[in-house]
Amino acid sequence: MMPGGLEHERNYSMASGKCYLEGYGSCAGGISREHYISRNILEFGSTGKAVKIGGLPWQPPSTMQAIGLSSLAAPILCQHHNKSLKPMDTQAGRLMRVLNSIDKVPAKVSAITYVHGPTFERWMLKVFCGLAACGHFNNGFIPREWKEILVGGAWPAFWGAYFPLGFGPVTVSDGLSFETKVHPETREIKAVKFYFFGLHVNLCFGIPGGDYSGQMRWGIRQPRRINFLNEPQCKTIDLMWAGGSGEEVTYVRTGSTNSGPDYLKYFPYDDSA
Ligand SMILES: [Zn+2]
Repeated sequence: MMPGGLEHERNYSMASGKCYLEGYGSCAGGISREHYISRNILEFGSTGKAVKIGGLPWQPPSTMQAIGLSSLAAPILCQHHNKSLKPMDTQAGRLMRVLNSIDKVPAKVSAITYVHGPTFERWMLKVFCGLAACGHFNNGFIPREWKEILVGGAWPAFWGAYFPLGFGPVTVSDGLSFETKVHPETREIKAVKFYFFGLHVNLCFGIPGGDYSGQMRWGIRQPRRINFLNEPQCKTIDLMWAGGSGEEVTYVRTGSTNSGPDYLKYFPYDDSA
């Protein structure tokens, strides 16, 4: 007998090429072979054939590995749903390019760049829906709430993107990596630490305790702006969150690098210190 039916759902999803958003709006156009980490992201962070990724369940801990693009595609969305989620890929690509430019060619970056944070936030969720649909996370199970958010539903209270503040250096590589926080009993994913080309964002599905102190542990929820300060220059990414905290997160560059991205040397700036 299948435990809790989750194993069944995973096998069904993978074997049948079923759209994981079936029942959430209409499916059309047949199943497409989706890169669940958007192809524009994969191709940018790669030599064209592979991308550096860490945190997937089959990988050794704290290791970044080059993973072939073809192994990150699976028939998990119909063409209609795939197309309707494309703006998420576009905004993630935009954010990735501006982070890269702030690092490598800051003189060519405007003082303020606009990236639609709410769409990028859903892109992170989309990546995890894809990973879950392929059985890499959550036993192949995608929570109903995740699907509702993907097709335009509101985030429940406390859920969403948190930008860490004052928790030490931004220690990331020039690729993508993830770290999941799983509920010890239910095994549900409660949060994902997302490292995105130099930016650390926590995507939270509820907060342990649900209180303000818990919120602060994860960082600033849906900040209006993130600033990269490299005296005397400051480059700002305006994330356009109308109903967010209105707060800003500032990273201060603290040294030079001889290899790798400069933003590795940015530290979150803690106003209270
Ligand atoms: Zn569909």
